[in-house]
Amino acid sequence: MTDTTTRTDAATAGAATGSRGTGVRIEGLTKTFRSGRRQVTALDDTTLFTDRGSFLSLLGPSGCGKSTILRILAGLETPTRGSALVEGKTPLELRRDHELGIAFQDSALLPWRSVLSNVRLPFEVSGQKVDDALVAELIRLVGLEGFEKAKPAQLSGGMRQRVSIARALVVKPSVLLLDEPFGALDDMTRQRLNLELLRIWTEKPATTLMVTHGISEAIFLSDQVAVMSARPGRVKEVIEVDLPRPRTPEMMRTPEFHALHDHASELLFGGDG
Ligand code: ADP
Ligand code: MG
Repeated sequence: MTDTTTRTDAATAGAATGSRGTGVRIEGLTKTFRSGRRQVTALDDTTLFTDRGSFLSLLGPSGCGKSTILRILAGLETPTRGSALVEGKTPLELRRDHELGIAFQDSALLPWRSVLSNVRLPFEVSGQKVDDALVAELIRLVGLEGFEKAKPAQLSGGMRQRVSIARALVVKPSVLLLDEPFGALDDMTRQRLNLELLRIWTEKPATTLMVTHGISEAIFLSDQVAVMSARPGRVKEVIEVDLPRPRTPEMMRTPEFHALHDHASELLFGGDG
C-alpha cells in the first residue's frame, strides 16, 4: 500500500539522520536546469531532514547543488520534482511570513543605501519597528563600526559580505540560510565571525542551513553535517556532531573533534564517491 510505503521510507530517512523533519524537510528533491539544448541535473532525488532550531552544514564538491538547495528553500528556484519545507512551511510561505534570514555569496546590497540602512532593510520590508540597538550591535559584531554611512561601493568584498551577515541576523529570523557566508574573508576574521554567529544563534536558535567549504567550521558550528556527492548532488551521509554546547574553540583540539573531521574528509575526498 502506497501510504504505508511512503511512511516507512520517511521514517527510515528520519532515523538515518536522527531527526524527524520538524526543521528542514526535503524529500525527493530534483532540479534540472536547461541551458540551450543541454540539460544539467543539479540535484537528483535528494532527501534531508533536520530538527527545528538545529544547525546543519552542507559540505560537498563544487557544483553538486548546494546553492541550488538553498535557492529552492529561499523561493528563488522551483524544484523540478520533490518538495522542500522548513518548519512545515513552503518557501513562499516563509517569505510571506518574513521568517527567512538569508546571506548568500552574491547577496545584493542596495548600492544606493548606506551600511546602516542596508542592515535596517529587513525591518522595513517586514513592517516591524526598527530595533536600532540591535542594528548597532550587529554592525559592531561584524566589525563595521565607523562604516555606518559608507555605501557598498566604498567597501571591500569581505566587508560587503559582513554587511549581508548582519542584515540576515537583524530580525532574528526563525530560519537562517547561509551560503558560504564567510567565503571571502581571511582566517582570523572568519574565526571571529564564526564565534559571533554561534553566540547569536545560541541566543535564539534558528533552523539553520549553511553551505561551507570549511570542514572544521562546519563541525564546530553544527548539530549535523551533511556531506554531498558530486553532481547530480545527493546526500551521502549526515554526520551527527554530538559535541556538547556551548561550544568553545578548545573543543577543536579534542580527539572527538579530530575523529569527526577525519570522517568528513574521508567522505569528501576519499573513495570514489
Ligand atoms: P554548488 O553550490 O554546490 O557549487 P550549484 O547549486 O550552484 O552548486 O550548481 C549545481 C549545478 O547546477 C552546477 O553544475 C551549475 O552549473 C548548475 N546550475 C546552477 N544554477 C543554474 C542555472 N540557473 N542555469 C543552469 N545551470 C545552473
Ligand atoms: Mg554554491
